[in-house]
Amino acid sequence: MSDKTTGLIHHPYVPPAGFEAPQPGVYKASTVFFPNVAAMRSREWKDKTAYTYGLHGTPTSYVLEERLCALEGGAQCLLVPSGLAAIATVALSLLQSGDEVLIPDNAYGPNKALAQGELKGWGITHQFYDPMDPQDLARRINGKTRLVWLEAAGSVTLEFPDLLEQVRICRAAGVLTALDNTWGAGLAFDAFDLGAGQGVDLTIHALTKYPSGGGDVLMGSVITRDEKLHIRLKLTHMRLGLGVGMNDVEAVLRSLPSLALRYAAHDRTARALARWCQTRSEFAQVLHPALPDSPGHAQWQALCGAEEGRAAGLFSVIVDARYTQAQVDAFCDALRLFRLGYSWGGPMSLAVPYELASMRQGWPAHLARGTLVRFSAGLEAVEDLQADLLQALQRALA
Ligand SMILES: *Cc1c(COP(=O)(O)O)cnc(C)c1O
Repeated sequence: MSDKTTGLIHHPYVPPAGFEAPQPGVYKASTVFFPNVAAMRSREWKDKTAYTYGLHGTPTSYVLEERLCALEGGAQCLLVPSGLAAIATVALSLLQSGDEVLIPDNAYGPNKALAQGELKGWGITHQFYDPMDPQDLARRINGKTRLVWLEAAGSVTLEFPDLLEQVRICRAAGVLTALDNTWGAGLAFDAFDLGAGQGVDLTIHALTKYPSGGGDVLMGSVITRDEKLHIRLKLTHMRLGLGVGMNDVEAVLRSLPSLALRYAAHDRTARALARWCQTRSEFAQVLHPALPDSPGHAQWQALCGAEEGRAAGLFSVIVDARYTQAQVDAFCDALRLFRLGYSWGGPMSLAVPYELASMRQGWPAHLARGTLVRFSAGLEAVEDLQADLLQALQRALA
């Protein structure tokens, strides 16, 4: 080959096999080569015995999928560009016009918005159910119900439902259950083995949160134990053209070994701060499943056990109704270590004020009146974070 460009493209050097290092290699591709036409024609896309196209996986993403299955106790995993894309993939795979989906009223907000937006437009109906009343869920299941979303603990308000009972009800009705397990991260409890032989049918995760751990990657997963259900999801996943970048996959692979250690550290800090917040008269209520008077505490303890490393580093406070919205905003603005921003799971502590009234079907009886602020405990020293909360309280709510 005399042409230099051709020579570079078709360079014959192949590095020796057998390279091993702590991190798996980063294999990036759109095109994947086949040795011959027969191999191309008989390409295997259903499982991870071969490669077809970069969109459907490379050795790097296969490794992450397998490790996430091990973490979750699942058998098959799909990677998608975000946690919300995982929710959408499940909805688009399992719901058709005329079907109904049930969503807990404290679910991750954009899950509800998808039901109220696109799904509604496509003739798929929804109901929001009370996550703390299994009989409310049971009553709403009907002949059209095809999918029930579960979330433990709920987003923002962190109520912990009776997951086992919810799954029992859905099983008895022959309805599929999908758990948004982002909060539990595969560590707080076993979604596929909740006890009494019960488990959810599939889980989704925002890997964006603790599995990434850096606040710099967006990714989601859909994990199943049932091969048939996986293939249904995978076909939709392929037809929608959902893929993930291998540099992002690498980042998550690098963070996974420290996941449990970070989770326990976030948990420890959040519990300490939540307990401290309970001593402050500015707050009418503190929400964290490990607090004995927090909604769903008993269910959390029954499923997860009480030890550290069994709860995410999230807690919310309801600032007493005697303070105005402007004062609560000033409190958030006065925070220095806690930064204002959505998402969570990175090393930095975060705060977000929420307008709860617009998020729920009505103000839940188990929540005090006031303005809710959700905190995500980062990896900073707990004394520094507590001092930050104190100075902001003194400046804004004195
Ligand atoms: C963040 C989050 C999501 C969405 O994840 P993205 O990657 O930001 O799309 C879904 N569910 C829960 C519970 C979350 O906290």
